[in-house]
Amino acid sequence: MRITPADLVPDPLSLDLQLAPGVIDFAPDVRQTSPLKVRGAADRIEEHIGPRQVVEDIRLRATLKGDFELLCARCLDPIAYRADQTFDLIFRPSGNDAEAGERAISEAETEIGYYEQSGLLLEDVVREQVLLSLPDRSLCREDCKGLCAHCGGNLNETACNCSDEIVDPRWGALQGLGAVRADGK
Ligand SMILES: [Zn+2]
Ligand SMILES: [Zn+2]
Repeated sequence: MRITPADLVPDPLSLDLQLAPGVIDFAPDVRQTSPLKVRGAADRIEEHIGPRQVVEDIRLRATLKGDFELLCARCLDPIAYRADQTFDLIFRPSGNDAEAGERAISEAETEIGYYEQSGLLLEDVVREQVLLSLPDRSLCREDCKGLCAHCGGNLNETACNCSDEIVDPRWGALQGLGAVRADGK
């Protein structure tokens, strides 16, 4: 859905849509598993720069709700994730920041994005907001044991034989130290 300032006059545009899985390609390890609900409104904001120039911004306020599946960072098992967030963003026409005039909205006040002349693509905004909401590192559980580096087996499910055979060299050194002490006493 493309939004242009012309769509927002005389009245704001109200948004109430459901995006089916597959409409937005999120990321290779992020899969949408339910319709993604987007509810909110788009408004037009006028920014006056100097005595003459008026810039038309698009303000987008909406709530996102939907279910996703992420992959555990260690064992790659799927993890259910529920996106449920509200955002309030302002988009300026791209290429319109060349001259820093007096701005009605400063960068510090709110997050500023940009839209192309053809309009603001709502799906792009939704995609970015979902990706920003994801946890830095998703784990299926705090103590996930991950995959065996040797056979690739999931160590949460199977204790593979390789793990017994591989002895950390540091442990070997400690064991040797213990033996010396035992002998010395
Ligand atoms: Zn895991
Ligand atoms: Zn193994």
